[in-house]
Amino acid sequence: YGEALKATEERVAELRFKGHGMLAPFTAGWQSTDVHPLVIERSEGSYVYDIDGKKYLDSLAGLWCTALGGSEPRLVKAATEQLHKLPFYHSFWNRTTKPSLDLAKELLSMFTAREMGKVFFTNSGSEANDSQVKLVWYYNNALGRPDKKKFIARSKSYHGSTLISASLSGLPALHQKFDLPAPFVLHTDCPHYWRFHLPGTLNCKFTIAAFIAEPVMGAGGVIPPPKTYFEKVQVIVKKYDILFIADEVITAFGRLGTMFGSDMYNIKPDLVSMAKALSSAYVPIGAIMVSPEISDVIHSQSNKLGSFAHGFTYSGHPVACAVAIEALKIYQERNIPDHVKQISPRFQEGVKAFAGSPIVGEIRGVGLILGTEFADNKSPNDPFPAEWGVGAIFGAECQKRGMLVRVAGDNIMMSPPLIMTPDEVEELVSIYGDALKATE
Ligand code: PLP
Repeated sequence: YGEALKATEERVAELRFKGHGMLAPFTAGWQSTDVHPLVIERSEGSYVYDIDGKKYLDSLAGLWCTALGGSEPRLVKAATEQLHKLPFYHSFWNRTTKPSLDLAKELLSMFTAREMGKVFFTNSGSEANDSQVKLVWYYNNALGRPDKKKFIARSKSYHGSTLISASLSGLPALHQKFDLPAPFVLHTDCPHYWRFHLPGTLNCKFTIAAFIAEPVMGAGGVIPPPKTYFEKVQVIVKKYDILFIADEVITAFGRLGTMFGSDMYNIKPDLVSMAKALSSAYVPIGAIMVSPEISDVIHSQSNKLGSFAHGFTYSGHPVACAVAIEALKIYQERNIPDHVKQISPRFQEGVKAFAGSPIVGEIRGVGLILGTEFADNKSPNDPFPAEWGVGAIFGAECQKRGMLVRVAGDNIMMSPPLIMTPDEVEELVSIYGDALKATE
């Protein structure tokens, strides 16, 4: 009786607990009032460690971002040196810093899917996509096309969580209760054959300014397109004079086995968004790349229209740029896309070998990105009851065994650090298999 009473007292104290001091992003109330959040303390290579010292294989590379793992000394050195030399200066009004100029130059030379004109720096992927919208609006105003302002995005896309980027995103959770999406965004189908396979058409009107797409959809459940999908989409958007924005926030810098997702799918974008692996997430930085046609218009018209009055205090932050320059050097010197090409077949085949599981609907992926969709009877029309939390059970089984995965309902996502070793791939496949068996 005494022991049970004590345990109950402790549990009541936990229930009274109103949560830690942080209003945590993308976290439900019941999660943030958990007295035992998973607190990560340090990282080493492809692993992270919690405050109790437990080690986890980080199968999502943080949030699809620590491409070079958690302990790359060259990035730490680049940051430290820049912090000592010049921790901050801005890039407004034609004042700037050398790291931001150098990074812009390097990005323009690395992107070879087509020639690009200029780079604009942001602090995140969301800000990159917000900036894309403002830039396209400014561009069409400059060209005297004030009605050409709408955007086509795709259902299940994720482009960020600010007002504009959440509007572009095609995930209901980002819209419900926020009065979104904003009316200038239209959503069309995504190439998710297993679940939807409906013949779809793009309804292009003359008011459409741009189409935005992730080369491989990430947070929507990892949805790689059919090989020629983007070639066909590009024919349509070109016909209607619609700009193509490649949201490469996840796919840039080797994730698919090519330096950019645009290389993999033969995309010739007018605009590109990047963030995450740009600095391997060691410091926040995002960027957009703009075609010469667009940057020329902005350059020449800004004298007439007034400056391109958009930017952030930290656009081109010198420390972030210094780290990003070093990250880009590493991607190229170590040929990280090639490393991904070497190890990804085993990663893909190893996990896809479990596709026959009675609780798995589909396993999809390319390069080092992979999604699992659970479904009853292996049917897209038979979701498991939400209250069973099948995805969450699998996530917890992985965590128990020392691996962190992304869980979104009954979708599981993995996008490990690009520096993964073959042994770590084996460990990932083995934990995945054991966790799946336990979930079954
Ligand atoms: N675009 C894509 C494709 C993303 O996956 C994300 C984040 O996951 C974003 C944009 C938003 O980036 P951030 O969280 O840095 O704002």
